[in-house]
Amino acid sequence: MLRSVRFAVPALALVLALAIVHSLQARSPAVPASDAIVLHAAHILDVERGTLVSPGEVLVRGNRIVEAGSSVAHPGGAAVIDLGAATLMPGLIDVHVHLFLHPGAEDLQTVVESVPERTILAEIAAREDLMAGFTAERDMGTEGAGSADSAVRNAIDSGLIPGPRMRVSGNAISILGGHEDAIHFNPAEHISSNATYANNAGELVSVIRQQVKEGADFIKIYQTGADRFADGTFTTPYQYTEAQLEAAVQETARVDKRVGVHCTGEPGALYAARAGVASIDHAYQLSPETMRIMREKQIYAVPTFAISEYFAAHADSPTAAARQRAMLAFHAAEFRKQLAAGVPMAVGSDVGPFPHGTQAREFELMVTYGMPAADVLRAGLLNGARLLGWQDVIGQLKPGFYADVIAVPGDPLQDISVLQRVGFVMKNGIVYRR
Ligand SMILES: [Zn+2]
Repeated sequence: MLRSVRFAVPALALVLALAIVHSLQARSPAVPASDAIVLHAAHILDVERGTLVSPGEVLVRGNRIVEAGSSVAHPGGAAVIDLGAATLMPGLIDVHVHLFLHPGAEDLQTVVESVPERTILAEIAAREDLMAGFTAERDMGTEGAGSADSAVRNAIDSGLIPGPRMRVSGNAISILGGHEDAIHFNPAEHISSNATYANNAGELVSVIRQQVKEGADFIKIYQTGADRFADGTFTTPYQYTEAQLEAAVQETARVDKRVGVHCTGEPGALYAARAGVASIDHAYQLSPETMRIMREKQIYAVPTFAISEYFAAHADSPTAAARQRAMLAFHAAEFRKQLAAGVPMAVGSDVGPFPHGTQAREFELMVTYGMPAADVLRAGLLNGARLLGWQDVIGQLKPGFYADVIAVPGDPLQDISVLQRVGFVMKNGIVYRR
């Protein structure tokens, strides 16, 4: 098969890499670029310093970066890809995605669509995310498709299908009658929960062991919901006590993995921060004490503004739209307090309920709501890599890092919306988009 063929001639590798770009719409081969490629463009982004260097070059050999900077060695026979006026930068990282969700009635996907059907859609979603420049992602739950995400991750890793590097959680964990338990349906119909039940510390431990056995890289727990927002006041019940979350974090750490929580507000956020989770996703409302602990323990907040914006624009009624917009404004104001308090941020969009491949909008929204572009890029790439446990191999263009490189048409420090117009994608040394 094409994916297992290796090429000794660099020029041939380049020709084939470009050929792949054209054939990707129909098929998904993954031919390793086995020799040197030099990427050349007008600029290259230094994420750590938050500066643009001109011109920009990256020397790639196999799946790794050999050299990156204003100019690099051009080994004899190396293929040169000239990206003109573009800016080279590391592949994007989204720390909150759902490959197994697509726009539409979220709860009903579990009811209407089979897991095999959803798995095929997840493969397409993975390709769309990669083509949009996302070369690494954390999947925050299959929402009723069990551990099918492990199969998608493995198929990507073995070159069977194109997609980002994935950290997957399997089915997320929630309580009976909780946020994901089909609570808007007639209970007599026994509509399935979109998460796996765990109602106490013992059940959390056994569900975690099962999910790890089935291939989970980390554990996703629903910590709050259902949310209420009325007259400017936000409330949300917690789902697990601090002691229960501690048991979950300990069990997960025992096998060198971490917990990320869906957590919109207090007091659930305080319990999660004290228990030592790795990230608090959504984070509409955090108390001063929670923010202090998050800063101290370097627990990331993941605002997921893009999904809120999409829901506001696609609400069922004008009343629902107004409520979504008010909620988003409340969150934006809280976000500014979180930045002022030094809460570390990571960039996650919650894509899935809105179309895959469009989620770079999240970077723009974080800038809109008050975070400097250089900080958003650091949050996305440096903190994102840390949250995925890949801080020494992705998120920067450095010697020894994976050759996950994209090109954008302009300066993301001046106009972060250029991340939504990615023109070139290389992942693991393979050109997927040109
Ligand atoms: Zn989510």
